[in-house]
Amino acid sequence: MIQKYKDRWSKRKDATNAIGTAVGKKGLFLDRDGIINVDHGYVHRIEDFFCYPEIFPICKRFLDKNYTIVIVTNQSGIERGYFSEEDFQNITKHMLGIFERNGIHIPQENVYHCPYLDATQPCRKPNPGMILESAAQLGISVAKSVIVGDSNRDIEAGLTAGVGTRVKIGVDGCDEATHHFATMRQLLAGVNDGVLHIR
Ligand SMILES: [Mg+2]
Repeated sequence: MIQKYKDRWSKRKDATNAIGTAVGKKGLFLDRDGIINVDHGYVHRIEDFFCYPEIFPICKRFLDKNYTIVIVTNQSGIERGYFSEEDFQNITKHMLGIFERNGIHIPQENVYHCPYLDATQPCRKPNPGMILESAAQLGISVAKSVIVGDSNRDIEAGLTAGVGTRVKIGVDGCDEATHHFATMRQLLAGVNDGVLHIR
């Protein structure tokens, strides 16, 4: 299973060169743990999956402005052996069902995950592989896009990929971020009052 991903990523290396232009759709790149759901560490069971309620109105605001939502998530718990690829896919289906019930359709193919622990893997944030691959496959212009993450790794991946707006969530800011909010609740307030202007 892991070899399958290695092949996939090495083949895709060249496919990611064509983007970064101003042509293309706007993307909202979301980290998962700490942004969509509460991060208890290697969340992989449905009973441990608790969404931040603010994520739904935030996503709606972006959908209203024609953004494509993409989830880009490091899931090294797979290579660490904490849970399986199948566990991840099951919790993804559960997550997308919750979005659907809140009026937000995210296709399953818009969820990108990196199962590796090895920092040299292109998909593992802070490397930009997941952002670049998804942008190429979904026709997204990274420059016009927004990334939201609670780790400096998310923001660094966004910067390396060329994502124009980089939103750090958490107590600490990040030099590479363009915006910083302490909590998801504050991000929602920022979206509503225009501190984070959605173009
Ligand atoms: Mg996170």
